[in-house]
Amino acid sequence: MIDAKKIIEIIDAVAKKIDAEKDFLTQLDNEIGDGDHGINLSRGFKSIEEKLSTFADKDIASILKGVGTQLVSTVGGASGPLYGTAFMKAGNVCKGKFTLTDEEFVQAFNAAVEGVKLRGKSVEGEKTMLDALCPAYKALKGGIDGGKNLIFALEDSVNAAINGVEYTKTIIATKGRAAYLNERSIGHQDPGATSSLYILQTALDVLKKG
Ligand code: ADP
Ligand code: MG
Repeated sequence: MIDAKKIIEIIDAVAKKIDAEKDFLTQLDNEIGDGDHGINLSRGFKSIEEKLSTFADKDIASILKGVGTQLVSTVGGASGPLYGTAFMKAGNVCKGKFTLTDEEFVQAFNAAVEGVKLRGKSVEGEKTMLDALCPAYKALKGGIDGGKNLIFALEDSVNAAINGVEYTKTIIATKGRAAYLNERSIGHQDPGATSSLYILQTALDVLKKG
């Protein structure tokens, strides 16, 4: 179970984590893109942090849609609309809810991942954020379906995302700017997969604190 207050806490912690990792994300994007991923995302999450107090007392759908809208309008690049869509789609399945059961959390995560696929016209294996998000979703769903509680299932999910980020080093990018590099993209870790991992890791850290 997870409530609206926890969601706000997670968003706040994600903003701080992205800010702390801004330079590393930008460095990764320098290697295979245009070096703006960390700067873009931290700008977006900073603007969300400034609005967080307006989300208090709102249902989870409004919070997630608010985050998504803000990301689309402030982040720019490919990742702004993609992360923005992810949060908005997750919000769509949380209408009127102030708490989510573990199953509803899984549904919201699924909607987010499907949103990225649709918006990005992309699938797993193309060296994008989906290489963290898809395995993370599968592990989460498998864990919850198998009777694990949210924290243990999310631990599996984070581990799957870590493996997914490692996997991005071994493959050629076929979507996004990194695709211009063809085989020269091999050996480099995808920035978007890395930021997706940070978001999941931060959610887990906050939930573990109770
Ligand atoms: P840009 O590439 O426009 O500069 P960013 O640097 O903010 O945007 O984000 C780059 C990240 O976006 C990539 O590392 C990748 O994970 C993700 N990405 C790019 N294109 C796609 C896509 N079509 N589908 C999913 N993720 C994508
Ligand atoms: Mg970039």
